Amino acid sequence: MPANPDAADLLQHIWGYAEFRGLQREVIEHVLGGGDALVLMPTGGGKSLCFQIPALLRDGLGIVVSPLIALMQDQVAALRELGLRAAFLNSTLDAETARRVQEQARRGDLDLLYMAPERLLSDSGQRLLDQCRIALFAIDEAHCVSQWGHDFRPEYGQLSILRERWPHVPRVALTATADVPTRQEIADKLLRDGRAFVSSFDRPNIRYRVVEKRDGRAQLLQFIRGEHAGDCGVVYCLSRNTVEEVATMLAAQDIAALPYHAGLSAEMRAHHLRRFLDEDGIVMVATIAFGMGIDKPDVRFVAHLDMPRSIEGYFQETGRAGRDGLLAQAWLAYGLQDVVQQRRLIELSEADATYKRLSTAKLDAMLALAEAADCRRVRLLAYFDETSTPCGNCDNCLSPPELIDATESAQKLLSTIYRCQQASGTRFAATHIIDVLRGKRGDKVERYGHHAVSTFGIGADLDEQDWRSLLRQLVAQHLVEVDAAHFNVLQLGAASREVLRGQRRILLKRRAPGSERKRRAPRGVAGSGATAASAGAALQALSRVDAALFERLRAWRASTAKE
Ligand code: ADP
Ligand code: MG
Ligand code: ZN
Repeated sequence: MPANPDAADLLQHIWGYAEFRGLQREVIEHVLGGGDALVLMPTGGGKSLCFQIPALLRDGLGIVVSPLIALMQDQVAALRELGLRAAFLNSTLDAETARRVQEQARRGDLDLLYMAPERLLSDSGQRLLDQCRIALFAIDEAHCVSQWGHDFRPEYGQLSILRERWPHVPRVALTATADVPTRQEIADKLLRDGRAFVSSFDRPNIRYRVVEKRDGRAQLLQFIRGEHAGDCGVVYCLSRNTVEEVATMLAAQDIAALPYHAGLSAEMRAHHLRRFLDEDGIVMVATIAFGMGIDKPDVRFVAHLDMPRSIEGYFQETGRAGRDGLLAQAWLAYGLQDVVQQRRLIELSEADATYKRLSTAKLDAMLALAEAADCRRVRLLAYFDETSTPCGNCDNCLSPPELIDATESAQKLLSTIYRCQQASGTRFAATHIIDVLRGKRGDKVERYGHHAVSTFGIGADLDEQDWRSLLRQLVAQHLVEVDAAHFNVLQLGAASREVLRGQRRILLKRRAPGSERKRRAPRGVAGSGATAASAGAALQALSRVDAALFERLRAWRASTAKE
């Protein structure tokens, strides 16, 4: 079927692009025909044209809901540059300007009107819409409807009013992040029989790497100095404190680092953002407050000093690297403490049990990705329901780790945890357990008489790092639980019996230091097909668990709402 000639004309004559990209043409045709659409494309994929072109071609005004003021202003400025009649309505406008914009909208002198959601939902916003001829509604960053995501905006949920009040106006919901349950949630809340347009989420130029965290900050410094001197990058940290400390540490090492988090004044944030966008080689050290809508083409690396709490978050944050299509790196330092910390955050959250279960499932999928010994991209894409072959451009493809059967070592570790607890009637943290395994007669071992437990010294074959790595894996799989409320003491998880009885195998990954980046393997050849396939299957199963859980959650919410 040939492209809609009008749409193609606009693309060429207004935007100056020769061809539609990916699914753009299909979305545009669907919306021109009056259909609702859910558009999932990675950032930079070209989502804007999917509503801008139909808004121009359909009779009336295109209403665009956008959560960020800065984003709105940039987009409107870009549209005006192209000679289009675009405006925005948000809290930054003075009353006079706002009145003028509304007047233009009513007279039909605008092609596109960007609105903050609270503005649109207000009485005056609703009145304005009643007085306008509306071509379509576009809801940008539609994942903000998701209560489970970190960009949740309560007003987004209320946007379901659009389909109730204007059932015949097509709606386009767009996002760059949506795993299966989030997609469902967007469609449920915003669309009516919408068709989903899902483009590939692969970002082939991004090299995914996960390193074992030992001294995270020193490793980060080494990574930036060794591989990204002078490059623009983003370093994500969990807390504002860490952001400040890491930015200071990097700056002291002559790296142009700036902090960014919600605790800084609005002016300071705006100033750092401007410098990041305008200057070369700025490293932004930030919490996840930094991100949505940031479109800088030459970000060469995104580093995570703390593990994100979901694959969605990880994908979105790393996706800010390499928008220009050139090689970029996604670097994550990951250790036992990340697992403990993230689990603790879920535990301490005031959410209900269902939310906690969903968060735990999402976290576990992220942990499985971090622990993976096979292609990270295969797993990442599988999480978004996309099947692929080993990529040749991630750490595991470039330098497949050696896998050794560590079931017996895992049994030793589990029995030591058990025996120390039995012998003393109290639980112990990792360092002590590893000391006992390795036969180290420190003060604490003496004090508790643990040189007498039967597993004392039976683990001298592995070094401390291997033990920690093994323990982290067991914790990630819930075979060992860490009690973060009590000095991180360890205890056996329910499924640990399967390991002790030899019904479940445990593999330990080993990577020769510095071996990364040496090997190159073409796409489709690297890695072992068998493990990649089973990993994909495991992850798909996980994302089904997510979906099933979400279904139940929805049913439950619906039933409680009626009462
Ligand atoms: P998204 O909203 O999905 O992150 P944008 O709509 O902002 O992406 O588009 C990203 C960039 O790609 C913009 O610079 C845009 O002009 C460009 N772009 C979009 N569609 C095309 C196309 N068909 N051909 C060339 N460039 C395009
Ligand atoms: Mg966009
Ligand atoms: Zn790979």
